[in-house]
Amino acid sequence: MQEHDLIVIGGGPGGYVAAIRAAQLGMNVACIDENEQPGGTCLRVGCIPSKAMLESSELYYQAKHSLSEHGVKFKHVELDLATMLHRKDKIVDTLTRGIKGLLKKNKVTHYQGRGRLDGAKRVVVTHNGKTTSLTAPHIIIATGSRSASLRGVELDGDRIVTSTEALAFSEVPKHLVVIGGGYIGLEMGSVWARLGAKVTVLEALDRILPATDKEIAERTHKLLEKQGIEFRLGVRVQSAKTKGKAVRVECEGGETVDCDRLLMAVGRVANTDDVGLDTVSVTTDRRGVIEVNHDFATSAAGVYAIGDCIPGPMLAHKASEEGVACVEKIAGRWAHVNYDTIPAVVYIHPEVAAVGRTEEQLQQDGVEYNKGAFPFVANGRAKTLGETEGMVKILADKKTDRVLGVHILGPRAGDLIHEAAAAMEFGAASEDIVRVCHAHPTLSESVHEAALAVTGRAIHI
Ligand code: FAD
Ligand code: AMP
Repeated sequence: MQEHDLIVIGGGPGGYVAAIRAAQLGMNVACIDENEQPGGTCLRVGCIPSKAMLESSELYYQAKHSLSEHGVKFKHVELDLATMLHRKDKIVDTLTRGIKGLLKKNKVTHYQGRGRLDGAKRVVVTHNGKTTSLTAPHIIIATGSRSASLRGVELDGDRIVTSTEALAFSEVPKHLVVIGGGYIGLEMGSVWARLGAKVTVLEALDRILPATDKEIAERTHKLLEKQGIEFRLGVRVQSAKTKGKAVRVECEGGETVDCDRLLMAVGRVANTDDVGLDTVSVTTDRRGVIEVNHDFATSAAGVYAIGDCIPGPMLAHKASEEGVACVEKIAGRWAHVNYDTIPAVVYIHPEVAAVGRTEEQLQQDGVEYNKGAFPFVANGRAKTLGETEGMVKILADKKTDRVLGVHILGPRAGDLIHEAAAAMEFGAASEDIVRVCHAHPTLSESVHEAALAVTGRAIHI
């Protein structure tokens, strides 16, 4: 029996970050992951490989379609998909090795294998038929999530796939159908559309990006349509069948769509069905999500849970924040995750980024607000980049001027959003953003102008 102060099951951005912070706090930590490479969904088959493919495919698209505007002309632009995929794999390999190195540097014991709770304070790790028993007073479940499935649509890993396989298609699909207009569907759809596939997104709702501010989502929809992605809204997929290389998708109402590859992107479910929760009497909801309190403690003493397997947005940085807060609390220190200021980014082109509440949420909550918006078309830096689509929108409380939500569609939105996140974390008013001197010419000036627009003082519109 190996003894530790803390056992973390899962080596994703929730688990490995929790393990490293706990080691920094002086604990003897075990981190278990079933994969040879730690890093979880995020590093192996999520955030990082998808961003690598988004970057490469965007460069290919620009070389083909928009660099000539800059006077940069090519006689012939060729896609070398194998090199693109290899580059992505190399990035994943380097980063996951880096995590292994960080665990070692912090003296975290890394166990490869499946971890399973075995009653109070005990975890059994199984790898290649061999088991190792561990014990610790504190155990964190950070087992993450996997793609949700649809009854009637059977994944075959080739023609009908999840994002994992769609990150590694060895040839560009002729027609890729994506079920689900959430961020994973749009990111993967964008990659293959830029590389030449016909892409159709089937979305059950009457809009895409259901969690995003509606005005921003509608503008995004139009921009993606201009990029050639076809959307069919209000279409609920019921089943799909393969015949050789062809896939027929059947939707409610009898509509059918034929394609050669089908991507399931209908959300994600928690990986909690085989973690031994029953051995400590912890229950989950229908999607496998574990309920926790403010200290990330489950109903079983000494058992905690963080990341994609507990409620909240399924995002890597949210998982990491929770991991750190959870171990700080275990160590008896003060910690807090502010769920009102967790930014969310969709890495399509241009990017979509948000922090705080949407206009719809404010209206639903009966909060009166002022709105300041500024379009990138009026921003000098955006013009020089040739990236003038989109806007910054700031929502501030009508009475107090406190910033309640910031929504950006535009170039580098994923970087710009952090000024807003920092402002909101400090409880800023839109006037506080106004009083910050923004360098010229930068995209950030659009955030400044949107803050000015909250009180009707924008200069450049
Ligand atoms: P995970 O990263 O899922 O890690 C859990 C780990 O535990 C996995 O390695 C799993 O194999 C392992 N495991 C599970 N059960 C066991 C067990 N019993 N024993 C041992 N090991 C086990 N989020 C963002 O913030 N930004 C993005 O750009 C982004 N892009 C994404 C793109 C795609 C295509 C996908 C699929 C996801 C993306 N996400 C993104 C979401 C992000 O990956 C997750 O929110 C994040 O990885 C959750 O971290 P986690 O530590 O909770 O779980
Ligand atoms: P997200 O949860 O953000 O990853 O988005 C998943 C998307 O898939 C949501 O917009 C859902 O409305 C959509 N969706 C779920 N089930 C279906 C279905 N059967 N057919 C089409 N779209 C679906």
